[in-house]
Amino acid sequence: MARGPARRAEALVLDRTKLGETDLIITLLAREGELLKAVAKGARRPGARLSAPTELYGRVDALLAPGKSLWILTDGRRLVPPARRTDDMAGLSAAAAVSEVVRASLPEGEADPFVYALVLRAFEEIALAGDVEHLDLVSAATAMKLLSHLGWQPGLDACVGCGSRETTHASVSAGGLLCDGCAGEAEDAESVDARRAAWLRSLIEARLADLAAAPVDGPTAAWLASFARNWAAYHLDARLRAFDFLLSF
Ligand SMILES: [Zn+2]
Repeated sequence: MARGPARRAEALVLDRTKLGETDLIITLLAREGELLKAVAKGARRPGARLSAPTELYGRVDALLAPGKSLWILTDGRRLVPPARRTDDMAGLSAAAAVSEVVRASLPEGEADPFVYALVLRAFEEIALAGDVEHLDLVSAATAMKLLSHLGWQPGLDACVGCGSRETTHASVSAGGLLCDGCAGEAEDAESVDARRAAWLRSLIEARLADLAAAPVDGPTAAWLASFARNWAAYHLDARLRAFDFLLSF
């Protein structure tokens, strides 16, 4: 909630919802890693001064005044021009999927600087991604890196049931990879070969820029995005509609 004096924030615009005839409520991720909700009065009027700094997935320099329950965006400017890829539906839906996971992860009022750097990089890679496979890969990696950072890291080195190195399955509810024997115990266990298991490790360990340049086939990228979506939905106990939409491409 908005308290204290006016503040200036470098932030990413994660969400915007309409308010009244011409206003918006925007959700910002500040550089300090904090979620801030702000009212942008008149931002939907044609040619409005607050139109550019409230564009979705932009990086902005925002001036915020405390309001009754939300911040009020009094002024702002966009720090980078609209990204190329976010002009199309697949790119927009990838940015929306990342934004949705971040908003479901961070309690309002708690700051976590790791998150800003991760999401800024994710939006940059989404803007540059040349195909749906890499949008899937970057979104999946961002979700898995964020969830791992928050303490929900899957067990990917050995069977999470018995420690066997011979893993053949993965299960979100069991917490990672499973061997043949333990897979029978998990209802959501699915067959995962060594190559896909290695990809899961890469989502967490590799840099987003390297993943964005890595060769990947469509079915593998779609499966990784689906696993990341399920992992995030399970641990955050959230319905991830934007992530579902991304998976429809
Ligand atoms: Zn086992």
